[in-house]
Parts: sequence; C-alpha cells; structure tokens
Amino acid sequence: MEYKLADRMGRINPSMTLAIDAKAKEMIKSGIDVVGFGAGEPDFDTPDHIKQAAVDALSSGFTKYTPVAGIVELRRAITHKFERDNHVSYAPEQIVVSCGGKHTCFNIIQVLCQQGDEVIISSPYWVSYPEMVKLANAEPVFVETDESTGFKMTPDQLRQTITARTRLVILNSPSNPTGAVYTPSELQALADVCLEKGVYILSDEIYEHLIYGDACHRSPASFGPEYKAITIIAHGFAKAWSMTGWRLGFCAAPLPIAKAITTLQSHSTSNPVSFAQKGGVAALEGPQDHLLEWRAAFQKRRDYALERLQAMPGVICCQPEGAFYLFPNISGTGLDSIQFCELLLEEQKVAVVPGIAFGSDANVRISYATDMSTIEKGLDRMDAFCRSHA
Ligand SMILES: *Cc1c(COP(=O)(O)O)cnc(C)c1O
Repeated sequence: MEYKLADRMGRINPSMTLAIDAKAKEMIKSGIDVVGFGAGEPDFDTPDHIKQAAVDALSSGFTKYTPVAGIVELRRAITHKFERDNHVSYAPEQIVVSCGGKHTCFNIIQVLCQQGDEVIISSPYWVSYPEMVKLANAEPVFVETDESTGFKMTPDQLRQTITARTRLVILNSPSNPTGAVYTPSELQALADVCLEKGVYILSDEIYEHLIYGDACHRSPASFGPEYKAITIIAHGFAKAWSMTGWRLGFCAAPLPIAKAITTLQSHSTSNPVSFAQKGGVAALEGPQDHLLEWRAAFQKRRDYALERLQAMPGVICCQPEGAFYLFPNISGTGLDSIQFCELLLEEQKVAVVPGIAFGSDANVRISYATDMSTIEKGLDRMDAFCRSHA
C-alpha cells in the first residue's frame, strides 16, 4: 500500500551522519572490526557530578512537568554562563531550554522564517540547517567556501548573497564539519554586514569550549547591544559536557523571539526532561575542570591525525581550530565523497562521513572523538586505502 505523506516530507532527506553511524555500528555488532570515525559525539562520559544531580532529582521525585521554557534555576544558570564566558547579559526570560541543540535551532528557524524568506548558510554546513529551513517553507541559500579561505565565508560573499528576502544568516563557529573558527575581527565584519542589512543572526555556539591553540571564541551578541538585538544564540550541553543522550539545549534571544519559541514549544515537546534539567544546572554551576583535560586530549588527537592525513596521497587537509572534526579534501584520489566512503568502509572497514552530506563532494568528515589507538588504527587503514587508489 502506498501512503500519502505531506509534501514537506518530499523536500527533506534523512540525516546522513546518523545513517553512516548506524551502518558502522551494525557491522561492529555482527563481529566486523570497523573503525568508526563517524561519531558526532564526544567519547568521554558525562562527568559524575552531573549524573549525580540527575539521580538525586529522580530520587527526590522531581519527575513532573516543569515550566515549558525550563526551570528558573537552570535559566538563571544559563544567564550566568553567558555573563561568565561571553560577557553578554540576558534575563532568564530570554532563555529557552529545549530538547537538545538541534531542537533549539529548529525552534528558532520555525519562529523566524516562512515562505518567501531566504536563509543564508555557509557551505560546508551542518546537515540539519538546510532541512530545518525547508521545513519552515523558507529557502536555504548557500555561500560556498573551501580550503582557500579555511572554510570561512568572507564579508563580501555575505554582502553579495543578501537580498531583500534574506531573513537570517546561520553562523556556526567553531564549525561542524570543518572545525573552522572565525577570529573576533572576521566575526565582527560579518556581524557588521548583518547589522547594516537588517538580517538576523542565528549563532550556533555549541562547540564554543572546544577550541585549540590560539583560536578564540566570540559570540556576535557580545559586540554590543545593537548586535545582541539581532542575534539568537543556540547552544547545548551535548558537546562540552558530553551529554548528547540527555537531549538538552538552550537559546538566548531577544524577548519577543524567546516568547515565540516558548509558545511553539508549548504545543510540541513542552518542557525538556525534568531531571535532565537538574543535570544541566550541575553542568553549568559545577567545576569545569574536565574541559581542560578534554581539550588537551582533542588537540593531541587533532595534531596527530592532521599530520597523518597530510601525508596521504590525494589528500589535502587544512588545520581545524575547533570542534572535533577534520574535513580532508579527497578529490585528489579521483573518487567522489560517497564512493570514497563506501569503498573505505568496504575495503578497509573504516567509517567516515561523505562530505556531500555537508554540501561538499570533495571532502569527507573524520571525527576524532575516539581514543588515540583507534585513531592510529583507522588512519593506518585509510593511508593504505589512499595508497592503493593513488
Ligand atoms: C551536535 C550539534 C548540535 C546539537 O546537538 P544536540 O545533540 O541536539 O544537542 C547543534 N549544532 C551543531 C553544529 C552540532 O554539531
């Protein structure tokens, strides 16, 4: 029997990053020694004090509905986070807690965009942005970037892409999949264009704490009140606190936008999980020492993997400054990104994600959110693969 689905489902595709990860996990389950570089989540466990806070909340019966936008205690902790890390001050009413950073981005796009609107997305992009824009009946417009600018959009490119229909620009620094991090002055220049043209900024800052070397994270909201007035920050607990399964994210927005998101959420998910929110409070108000350790581990892995990739025939890789991905250009192998990934999985049992999922068929995404010996083993195999296809 053929089922008739809503037209909007014909406009979007399933998440390719999740699909490859699932396929690799299935192969592992059936006993095949697969090295998985597909993961979009840290390999570290959620810190114990965060888990304990959720356990305590459950034991004490904190198991009922909470306010739709999240408990005040958590929203207050989030305002402290923005003051402490970003030097931007928000009222708790401007914070909405949602079921993950992805849900946060979805909500923001839903309340701001509609038919006839254009949303500018720098490509390569995080897989879900264009699909979320299409689900809002708006149109994603891509600004193409590559290795020559370190995968960064220039202010001129942005200016030339903005039209009377542009509603929103999505920025994601540090970036998934490229690891690119805008310098404060590069970011300021982009924000200036948005301010001049009257375009909102969705700033997805979920990787803000995962930056290496001299890279430095700034939020466009921190450039001054007029910038804060056009910026909506999307954030979450998944990456810096390794809480992917908790489904907890948040945004900071001008009050009318925060209210609209709360209204939307009141008819979809309602509040995020009550006891997860208590874990969120512990994550923000508790010690942040784990971050030093994780950052050091990630940087060591990045440095090692970058050097190995740069030595592979047909591969070019620029240095990512943040997140936990490398985005090598594999076009020198003569394969497109899907062929590369399929053959690599088949011949060498290594799972990476085809760049086409992120808008670039010349690249693949390698996650180094896995232990060093796995990274060594996987890169040995990938090296052999590239040599055999050279
Ligand atoms: C991981 C990620 C998110 C949010 O993930 P959640 O698990 O939904 O919190 C948002 N944006 C980017 C770019 C990400 O990589």
